[in-house]
Amino acid sequence: MTVRELIRQSEALLDDKDKDCNVAKVLFYHLADKEPHQLYLMMDEEVDEQLYQDFQAGMKRYLAGEPIQYIKGKETFFSRDFIVNENVLIPRYETEELVENILYKIDDYFSDYDSIELCDVGTGSGAIAISLALEEEKLHVTATDISHEALEVAQLNARELGANVEFYQGDMLQPLIDHHIKVDIFVSNPPYIPSGQDIESVVKDNEPHVALFGGNDGLYFYRQIFECAKEVIQDRALLAFEMGFDQRALMEEAVEYYFPGIPYEIIKDINGKDRMLFIYYHLKDKL
Ligand code: GLN
Repeated sequence: MTVRELIRQSEALLDDKDKDCNVAKVLFYHLADKEPHQLYLMMDEEVDEQLYQDFQAGMKRYLAGEPIQYIKGKETFFSRDFIVNENVLIPRYETEELVENILYKIDDYFSDYDSIELCDVGTGSGAIAISLALEEEKLHVTATDISHEALEVAQLNARELGANVEFYQGDMLQPLIDHHIKVDIFVSNPPYIPSGQDIESVVKDNEPHVALFGGNDGLYFYRQIFECAKEVIQDRALLAFEMGFDQRALMEEAVEYYFPGIPYEIIKDINGKDRMLFIYYHLKDKL
């Protein structure tokens, strides 16, 4: 069978099952270790037997409902490949925007610092912590997660990508408190989906619920963080969070309750949805 025949046949099958047709090529690029322009040149070649078997095994998993990122075992985040498996949330595009905005805020508020202490609570695959550590050399990064399995993935990613990040296992702020860490920048993308919310089955059936669901209104973990944050931040600090697109009103209420009079800002993602919360703790007087 030629590459063209295999791709055509698989695209037709995906279409038939109402699945994303692009997955055929995406899987093929991955297994054959080719770029799109190379695939175009090899369309009339015969498919290697082993590649054919691996391809069909991957298609089977995808058709059974597994995300393509877990099948590939990786996802690109901020231009780098991160190892992912079912123990970590697949890094999302929106989260790249969080990283980007944190880098802007570092220029705005910490440009005169020689060294900046940053933590990422609930690091998962380590995408946020590792990207920040690699992008800004002034950062000293600590990352935590309650899941041992997630931390193994994050540590592997840090090693593969050459990032210097300290990892601690533990619940929420506890590892930071235990190690007397006080940060200039506190970052978290906690689980924020309300427990009862109906979400896509490819997410619900595959990704770790410990990384997705945030109590009845989705804000359970933010409130926990807000309540104890002062124990782990410097007198002057930035707090940066990802949040759900429909949480603005609840979030404003929570921030104003725990940080009265402190300036904060909710920033929209590229799709125009409320997505990031930045709290400027003694960083500026007014917004
Ligand atoms: N953005 C993810 C989703 O919608 C949720 C991530 C999170 O809860 N932190 O699937």
